[in-house]
Amino acid sequence: MAKEELECSFCGRKKPETNLLIAGLDAHICDRCIEQAHGIVIEESRQDGTGELSSELKLRKPKAIKSFLDQYVIGQEHTKKVLSVAVYNHYKRLLQPISDDDIEIQKSNIIMVGETGTGKTLMAKTIAKMLNVPLAIVDATVLTEAGYVGEDVESILTRLLQAADYNLEKAQHGIVFIDEIDKIARKSDNPSITRDVSGEGVQQALLKLLEGTTVNVPPKGGRKHPDQKFIEVDTENILFITGGAFDGIKRNISKRLNMQAVGFSASKSDDAIERENLLKYIIPKDLKDFGLIPEIIGRLPVLTHMNPLDRSTLRSILTEPKNAIIKQYQKLFEMDDIDFTITDEALDFIVEKAIEYKLGARGLRSLCEAILTDAMFEMPEGSANKLVVDKDYAEEKLDKSGIKRLKAVS
Ligand code: ADP
Repeated sequence: MAKEELECSFCGRKKPETNLLIAGLDAHICDRCIEQAHGIVIEESRQDGTGELSSELKLRKPKAIKSFLDQYVIGQEHTKKVLSVAVYNHYKRLLQPISDDDIEIQKSNIIMVGETGTGKTLMAKTIAKMLNVPLAIVDATVLTEAGYVGEDVESILTRLLQAADYNLEKAQHGIVFIDEIDKIARKSDNPSITRDVSGEGVQQALLKLLEGTTVNVPPKGGRKHPDQKFIEVDTENILFITGGAFDGIKRNISKRLNMQAVGFSASKSDDAIERENLLKYIIPKDLKDFGLIPEIIGRLPVLTHMNPLDRSTLRSILTEPKNAIIKQYQKLFEMDDIDFTITDEALDFIVEKAIEYKLGARGLRSLCEAILTDAMFEMPEGSANKLVVDKDYAEEKLDKSGIKRLKAVS
């Protein structure tokens, strides 16, 4: 055969019409057909169920999941344990072969109750990091019932698609963290008085998503692009983790515990109750009394609490996690060949201030920033190659900074 007469055995294009023609034993294939064939291979492997996923997803056992969390999250032992089991079961459910014994494992969506800044988001982020799955973090306060000003619940899935770089398969096995779930509690006991578009209405809209359904999602979100094509997202295998502070719920818990105590031996039960940390005793009924509808509570079967951060936990957060704040500053200084150390007294002082200003763990970073800004500004161009921050230095820099004003705000 003359060279010009070579053609693709699949589409019949002549060699000059192709960019590339690859020869096989008895046939040729052109670049376009290779691309198409590649697309078919990918599509087939996706339809093949979890084939692609199981090779990518490293399913660790609960203890291994907990040790991973230990590297990033200080304390919160109970929640770490509960989450490790929930995540393990969730992914076991995904990887289970289809069987005919009719035992369908339910989703283990999670609800974490705890004050702001106690590590709820960090927990969700760390799990997503460990599993190497996309994570969307959304705030329930922006959600409203479809058709009202605000975001529809579908926007949650738009975020997840974005986090997955629009890889549908990845998004469908991702994690959604919904923060401030308590803010969509029912506003009044009688929902018929006024329309509760950001409360019960949103809870109703969330129900289906949590349980598993197919949703048409606008890939770019919002209503600004009315003619964009929808992507069909199945939420069946998405793990939902929700969190909220549930301000005031302690009163419900306390009331319930006291009522129980009256029924039994009052003084004995009272002794056993840790009054400082009533969240420990939370049960689904407390969430219902707070204003979550029973159906939502039922779809968030894993309920756990976050402990308030005490002095020693805050102190550990400064230095111990894998990406602890102090380690980050050390690295920043190291890049300018500066050896940065901070004394124990200075660290204790930072913790004291975080407690005094009621800034919690989030405040640790702003305090460090206030103390170190001068050094980070001056030193890269100076001659010194060592910085030791002791309590006096920290105190002086903090006095100079405006951080005290935060105290007035809080
Ligand atoms: P929440 O979601 O409960 O409001 P976050 O997870 O956003 O709290 O925590 C705020 C910051 O405080 C995080 O960036 C993290 O660095 C730090 N932090 C809070 N709790 C912990 C903890 N238990 N261990 C380590 N860091 C924590």
